Amino acid sequence: MASASQEYDYLVIGIGSGGIASARRAAKYGAKVVAIESKRMGGTCVNVGCVPKKVTWNAAAIAETFKDAKAYGFRNFEQPTFDWPYFKKKRDAYVKRLNGIYENNLNRDHIDHVKGRAKFVAKNEVEVALESGGTQRIKAKNILIATGGRPKVPNIPGAELCIGSDGFFDLEDRPKSIATSGAGYIGVEMSGMLKALGSDVHFFIRGQKLLRTFDPMIQDVVTKEYERQGLHLYKGHQITKVEDIGNGLKRVTYQDMESKKEGTVEVECVLFATGRDPEIEDLDVKQVGLELDERKHIKVDKYQNTNIENIFAIGDVSNSGFELTPVAIAAGRRLSDRLFGGKPDAHLDYNSIPSVVFAHPEIGSIGLTEPEAREKYGDKVKIYKTEFTGMYFAMMDPEEKQPTAYKIICVGEDEKVVGLHILGQGSAEILQGFGVAIKMGATKKDFDNCVAIHPVSAEELVSLYPYSIHLNVSLSATRSR
Ligand SMILES: Cc1cc2nc3c(=O)[nH]c(=O)nc-3n(C[C@H](O)[C@H](O)[C@H](O)COP(=O)(O)OP(=O)(O)OC[C@H]3O[C@@H](n4cnc5c(N)ncnc54)[C@H](O)[C@@H]3O)c2cc1C
Repeated sequence: MASASQEYDYLVIGIGSGGIASARRAAKYGAKVVAIESKRMGGTCVNVGCVPKKVTWNAAAIAETFKDAKAYGFRNFEQPTFDWPYFKKKRDAYVKRLNGIYENNLNRDHIDHVKGRAKFVAKNEVEVALESGGTQRIKAKNILIATGGRPKVPNIPGAELCIGSDGFFDLEDRPKSIATSGAGYIGVEMSGMLKALGSDVHFFIRGQKLLRTFDPMIQDVVTKEYERQGLHLYKGHQITKVEDIGNGLKRVTYQDMESKKEGTVEVECVLFATGRDPEIEDLDVKQVGLELDERKHIKVDKYQNTNIENIFAIGDVSNSGFELTPVAIAAGRRLSDRLFGGKPDAHLDYNSIPSVVFAHPEIGSIGLTEPEAREKYGDKVKIYKTEFTGMYFAMMDPEEKQPTAYKIICVGEDEKVVGLHILGQGSAEILQGFGVAIKMGATKKDFDNCVAIHPVSAEELVSLYPYSIHLNVSLSATRSR
């Protein structure tokens, strides 16, 4: 319990990925820390993000493996069924265990924690609307805002009948049919998981391609692959109305963005994954004059400083541009290193941050996309790419084979690698190691000098033109300027 009379060294609002990391690092340096959380410990990642998502993705991957097993000659197992309620109960229990671990960690590090909703009353003081009732004011020399974000559902007729990404994790059973919307990574992941687990997925995207901020190669291959897998892609369409028509069904009205022609489809569930808003509504940031950007993210510099001297922001609520758990953690720890650990220059380098999409198949991306590299470096850019079928699919019929696509983006005479984009089985695990190499400044020659591991898909990354070894099926390694 926080003490009302005492002034803390560090007050952290939000016990999510970034908040807890920063609070614990500060406490390790001996700072007197208090942390405030209005919901469950662990924030988005643990409760409605990375963790339950990856567990669900694992289930979806197992469903795909069952299909693949037949091609490998496995027999006498009936069409497997997926017990979603059983799975959800176990997944919820796992998340609950993690909530407990978070709380224990705070206690072990002697961090006072308060359950309630915080708002600013002065630049050194917040008021907490306590979960147990009443309010409490707490003062601190330094305050960290680590309040994350929340999903937004567009304001259309019937919006209250739809769910956002948080609602996906509340689904008590698998919807047999679902309309999804949002071409970003959350929409792509959730649509892909639902399809793999047997739902009929009607996927609405305003543009022509999925993952529009990713490299064009990734956009092309994943869009084609989702269509091959049988998701109904409504390109250039948006959902305009949702109605409850009884019998557990909803009628979705959609519109072609260009012709304005309308159509309808009936589904059990409607899921919007059309972006996230920073969680600042209740903080009363105007009270202290905090500067926000045009999308209401808190403006920070590379040291996570806001425009108010003793107030800092990290993670999804800040305008750092990367809404990823490890980014919030890394920024939070470095901030505490700087404030309490005697490391005045500690800050996160936001260049070359790897990220993955748990699509089907997985996607990994680090550094610049080809258009970004060409805009920055013009004709100094060299591209190496390959598309092939991984050996895992050798036993499948042609129409069952998933693609693999890799692209390396290099710059200058020494061909420094400034971007790597990979799609295919295992890409999430593959990217982490390549991320280290790229962060260290690897060149194409360094990639070529690494002896391949055989037979794996990733060997193609160290065997690209002019050294292609053509071990995978239908390899087409090319280089372009
Ligand atoms: C569906 C989904 C899947 C994702 N998958 C991945 C992934 O695979 N990999 C990855 O790296 N990232 C993933 N992310 C993103 C990741 O979850 C976030 O980037 C990360 O959680 C941000 O951490 P944070 O510390 O900024 O905020 P959060 O973790 O969101 O924590 C903020 C906390 O602040 C609390 N809070 C807010 N306002 C107040 C207040 N006024 N008073 C008190 N408490 C308050 C909230 O309740 C919350 O617990 C995913 C996100 C979603 C939605």
